[in-house]
Amino acid sequence: MTTFAELGLAPDILRALDDMGYATPTPIQEQVIPLALQGGDILGAAQTGTGKTAAFALPLLQRLLPFANTGTSPAKHPIRALILTPTRELAIQVEESVKAYCKHIPLRSLVVYGGVSINTQIPILKTGVEILVATPGRLLDHVQNKTLMLNQVNTLVLDEADRMLDMGFMPDLKRIVALLPAQRVNMMFSATFPEEIRKLADSILNNPTFIEVARNATAVTVTQVVHPVHHERKRALLTHLIKTRDLKQVLVFTGTKLGCNRLANELNKLGLHADAIHGDKTQQERIKALDAFKAGTLRVLVATDVAARGIDIEALPFVVNYDLPHNAEDYVHRIGRTGRAGVKGEAISLVSESETRYLKDIEKLIGTPLEPTIVPGFEPGVADVPAYASRPQRIERQAEERPIEYPVERPAEQVAAPALERSAPRAQRPASRDALFDSPYVPSAAPATPPAANRQLSRKPVAALFRSPVKPESSEQ
Ligand code: AMP
Repeated sequence: MTTFAELGLAPDILRALDDMGYATPTPIQEQVIPLALQGGDILGAAQTGTGKTAAFALPLLQRLLPFANTGTSPAKHPIRALILTPTRELAIQVEESVKAYCKHIPLRSLVVYGGVSINTQIPILKTGVEILVATPGRLLDHVQNKTLMLNQVNTLVLDEADRMLDMGFMPDLKRIVALLPAQRVNMMFSATFPEEIRKLADSILNNPTFIEVARNATAVTVTQVVHPVHHERKRALLTHLIKTRDLKQVLVFTGTKLGCNRLANELNKLGLHADAIHGDKTQQERIKALDAFKAGTLRVLVATDVAARGIDIEALPFVVNYDLPHNAEDYVHRIGRTGRAGVKGEAISLVSESETRYLKDIEKLIGTPLEPTIVPGFEPGVADVPAYASRPQRIERQAEERPIEYPVERPAEQVAAPALERSAPRAQRPASRDALFDSPYVPSAAPATPPAANRQLSRKPVAALFRSPVKPESSEQ
C-alpha cells in the first residue's frame, strides 16, 4: 500500500496528515498528488467523500513551500493559490482542511463568501494570504472593491465545477479566469461531466490529465434503500424509521425551502429534534444548525440541495431523500454526504407515485436498478387519512400533504456513472413482487455487503406498486 511519504510529500505536510489521522492516501489522492506535484493540469472525476480536497490541496501547498515565510509585510503574502467552490459551506470546509494541512507551514489561508459582511474580510485580506478559498460572487465583489489582487496566482482550483455551472456561475468564472496570470497550474474537479463541463475544462485547462476514481476503488460505500410510500405517509414513515431504527444523526433532503421548514417544524412537534437549512436562512442560522448537527446535539437536519452542498460530516451514517430530486445528478451529490472516506453509510429514498419517473432517471444515471423495499404499515397504495376522519379533516390533511411540483432545472443527462455501491442488502429484499406486500421489514444498522453491481433485476416497476392498495396493518406516527 502506498504511503503519503512515497507520494513525495514534504515532512511538514506529512506531520500535519499524521496529526489528522490520515494513515494512507485514498485512490484519488494516490493518483492526483504525484501529477500535481509536477505541476500538470488535472481534470478530476470525483465526488465529495473521496478525499479530493487533500488531493488538490496537498500538492498545492507543497508547491507553495518556497514562498512560505513569517514576514509581517503584506507584500510577502500575495494570493498565490485560488480555490473556487460553489457554496459557502464547501468553501468553509475546504479552508478548514487547508488550514489543518498547513499547520506546520507559515502559509496563510482565508475563506471569503457572500451573505456576511464584506468588511470583516477586508482587514484580513489586507494583511496578506497565500491561499484564498472563495465563492465566485464574493470574490468578484472584492475584485471590484480593489480589496484583493489576483496577479500573482499560480494555481487555480475549481471544486465541484458541475455545481458551479448549475448555480449559474459560468459568467463569474469567465471573468475571474480572465484576471489570472496565463502561466498557472489548473485543477478542476467535478462529480459529473455534462457537455458544459467539458467545454469549461477545454477553455481553462491546459492539456490536462484526466483522473477518475475507479467505480469500486472509491472510498465511498453507500448502501441505497428505496421505500415506495404514499406521499401522504412520508412524514409518518420518516418518523417511524428514525424511531424504530434509532437513527441518531440524519440528514434529510427536501425539494423546496417551504417543505424544508415545514418538515423540520413537524418533526419537532413529534418530539424529534430537527432544524432546517436552506437558502433563505442567514449564514449564522446555517452555521448554528450545522454545528449542532455535527456535534450530535441536533438529531435531524432538514436541508435543500443548495444548502447541503459540500457538507462534510465525519461518518454521517444516514441520508434520507424525503423528496426525490428532479435532477438525477443531485441524487449522487446528496448521497455523497454519507459513506465518506471509507465509512459505511446508508441513503434512504422515500418515493411516492409521482416521483417514480425521477427514480428511473436516477437508476439510468447510476447504471443500476434500485430495488424497492416496502415497510409494513406504509404500503405505497395507502394514505393515512383514516376512513372515519371527518371530511374537513381529510381535505385539510390532503391539502397540507399535496406534493409540490416544482420545475425541473434541466434534463438529467447520461453521464459517467458515479462510484456507488448499490441498493439494499439482499437479505432485506422480498423474494417476489407479491412478497413485497407481506415480508417483514428488518432494519439493519450495519448493511450487509451489497450484491454484484451489474446483476439485472427482474421486478415489478416501482410505479406499479402504487396501483395495488393494501390495507396497512398498523398506522404509526
Ligand atoms: P473530501 O472528499 O475531500 O471532502 O474528504 C472527505 C473526508 O475524508 C474528509 O473528512 C477528510 O478529512 C477525510 N479524508 C480525506 N483524505 C483522507 C485520508 N487519506 N485518510 C482518512 N481520511 C481522509
